[in-house]
Amino acid sequence: MKKGGVIGRNIQHSLSPMIHNHSFLSAGLDYVYEIFDWEESEFSENLPRLRQPDFFGANVTMPYKEAVIPFLDKISDRAERIGAVNTIVNIRGQLIGENTDGEGFILATRSFFQGLLGKKVVVLGAGGAAKAVVSALVEHHAEVVVVSRTGANFQKMVARIGKERVLTFKSFEGENKEYHLLRDADLIVNATNSGMSYEKSLVDFSKLSNNKLCVMDLIYSPEETHFLQQAKANGLRAKNGLDMLVFQASLAFTLWTGVEMDVPLIQNKLKGNL
Ligand code: NAP
Repeated sequence: MKKGGVIGRNIQHSLSPMIHNHSFLSAGLDYVYEIFDWEESEFSENLPRLRQPDFFGANVTMPYKEAVIPFLDKISDRAERIGAVNTIVNIRGQLIGENTDGEGFILATRSFFQGLLGKKVVVLGAGGAAKAVVSALVEHHAEVVVVSRTGANFQKMVARIGKERVLTFKSFEGENKEYHLLRDADLIVNATNSGMSYEKSLVDFSKLSNNKLCVMDLIYSPEETHFLQQAKANGLRAKNGLDMLVFQASLAFTLWTGVEMDVPLIQNKLKGNL
């Protein structure tokens, strides 16, 4: 049996074991996926175990996507650009870091948003998830504007992705919200934590008269944030981050097994589990 799991902190609620164990079973693979709820101080002792032949690798989640990097042998160019790793693959005893969040996001947009080339996408937030999303959008030739609460994370993003790649820092604090940026946008993405505790929507969609705007929230729990509720109430097409979770998992699954995940099967399974 091959073993692996998700490395993080306070992650008992994670949907990843269900997603992967169900997929291993349906693909007839003798693999098992567990929760590795580790302190950072345990990394030097625990991570080398993943090099053993009976480990396929792991996912990495909050708060360790950056902290894990020094323990790996190599990271992909994409993970380097984002500055974070969400997937580790054990290749003949070498631990290789990859990041599948951004491509998972791109695959998730496809069911409700056609073609990113030249489209204007406004991303709210400049943390880890936003970096993965912005990096993927730039790869797919979208025109990206980032709206960030503070400049510090935004500057880190610019240092990674490059300021020639259409990045703008605007605050959405106070009354001076940047609504003009949204009036001709094609897609807006909430990549902040705002909404996880039912905070009110960062955008008042009733102030926009842009009915081509599509709206995506990376949050999937709660299933529908106020951000999504407000967008839908104003007639906009909107979706949550559950498909991104499934697609980033499917990309990691293929890296570990060489087999494609049955994505519709998992999407249906998750519907009854949130
Ligand atoms: P992170 O690294 O902590 O970054 C959070 C970002 O949100 C920062 O830019 C922060 O602003 C901003 N922020 C937090 N609270 C805010 C508020 N009240 N108003 C405005 N901005 C606020 O977190 P992360 O890893 O990027 O995760 C962000 C969200 O994405 C989380 O909800 C997470 O669950 C979700 N996510 C979903 C998936 C998926 O597969 N669907 C994958 C990854 C993450 P500052 O820069 O000013 O601090």
